[in-house]
Amino acid sequence: MEFSFFFKNRAAQEKASALVEADSCNFRLSPKYRFYYRFARPIMPIFVRQLLQKGRKIPTEFDWYEPNAFMRLVTECCELAKEEITTIHPWPNRTEFAFVLTHDVETSVGMRHIARIADIEEGLGFRSSWNLIPYKYKIDMGLVNDLRDRGFEIGIHGYNHDGQLYSSRRVFEQRAVGINVAIKKYGAVGFRSPMVHRNLNWLQALDVEYDSSCFDIDPFQATPGGVGSIWPFIAGKFVELPYTLPQDHTLFVGLGELDDRIWKTKLDFIIRHQGMAMMLTHPDYLTSRRESETYFRFLKYVKEIGNFWHATPKELARWWRKREQTVSSLLNNDATSIDYSDGDRGRCHTDAAVTFETALERLPKRV
Ligand SMILES: [Zn+2]
Repeated sequence: MEFSFFFKNRAAQEKASALVEADSCNFRLSPKYRFYYRFARPIMPIFVRQLLQKGRKIPTEFDWYEPNAFMRLVTECCELAKEEITTIHPWPNRTEFAFVLTHDVETSVGMRHIARIADIEEGLGFRSSWNLIPYKYKIDMGLVNDLRDRGFEIGIHGYNHDGQLYSSRRVFEQRAVGINVAIKKYGAVGFRSPMVHRNLNWLQALDVEYDSSCFDIDPFQATPGGVGSIWPFIAGKFVELPYTLPQDHTLFVGLGELDDRIWKTKLDFIIRHQGMAMMLTHPDYLTSRRESETYFRFLKYVKEIGNFWHATPKELARWWRKREQTVSSLLNNDATSIDYSDGDRGRCHTDAAVTFETALERLPKRV
């Protein structure tokens, strides 16, 4: 499969592609996890599951949420290349980073909390995407239509979330048919796998503009690893949007964090590198007062920082696709200016042709 990253240096592209390929093959659960998802999890009360998750000991560095190895690799490749690296800034309108909100709705309890969370997000000027499981719980079409009318987005989150989607290619392809039906029915253009299982080759069977099953780095998932990139990239026929801020569940349940300290530190890292800050939270877990207040406090904090491009994943994927085309024509035709006049670029069209100069300079140097 062809991958294309925002840094157009060949050595960096090859190394980043190899990392993504390696991470993408990492989709099979260990026998222990397979047993857990198939037999134990469905009958286990949620508090028992959470107790088990709290007891998981995963050795990590203090900065486990920063993909430093990937950053160093990219920097080294770019430093070795003597030629100038031609590209354009990742984000439109001279903004410094992208800020994207996504939610995976796990259960009917989560469905019931959507309206409350969406209202508060809207009040702060944000719009998010809601990834729904099409064949698990009842989906309220009135709510779906209302969210879409207000500028929120609907995405699809697996098939029925039973942990079996990737059990074989045959199973995946059978279910892909039903997933594509749901994509059409709910007007979705994006997908995220349950438990962030990921095989970017198999995912090509879905009728989507973007997938968001990858992450830059996350040692706390059932299939840990990560692609490293804090920017979107092209993966075959779609745009891949890795989530880059640790999941709410990992922080609040797995690690017992009491505040948004880790989100803030990671956001700082992303801003330094002009990356994409993509959150993955669950309305099912943002039910307690402390957790939902921590989430909304963080949104307010980001709002105060300013100078970011807030977009839904769909808008972001479309921007990235157009940006990629522009970079290609720039490289092929040696064009010196970029025409952003066509109306279809919507709110992204103005002043996006900022020559990309500073982001690579800000990558961490080898220590
Ligand atoms: Zn899920």
